[in-house]
Amino acid sequence: MRIHVDMNLCESHGQCVFAAPEVFSFDDEDYLLYDAEPADTLLDQVREGARMCPVRAITILGSAP
Ligand code: SF4
Repeated sequence: MRIHVDMNLCESHGQCVFAAPEVFSFDDEDYLLYDAEPADTLLDQVREGARMCPVRAITILGSAP
C-alpha cells in the first residue's frame, strides 16, 4: 500500500506510532518518520493508526484488495 501523512497537520501525538510501530516512528526531535510504502500485511495496523490520529493527517492511498 501507499500512505501519505500531511505533516502540516501532524502534531506528533504519536497514536499512529503506538498503533503501527513498524510503519511510524519519531526521530530524536519528535518529528514523525514513516514508511510511505509499507507491506500490505500491515494494512490493519495502518488503518488503526489513521483512525486514531486526532488530526486525521494519515491518508491511505492504495492497497491490495
Ligand atoms: S497520530 Fe497523527 S498527529 Fe500523531 S504523530 Fe501520527 S500522524 Fe502525527
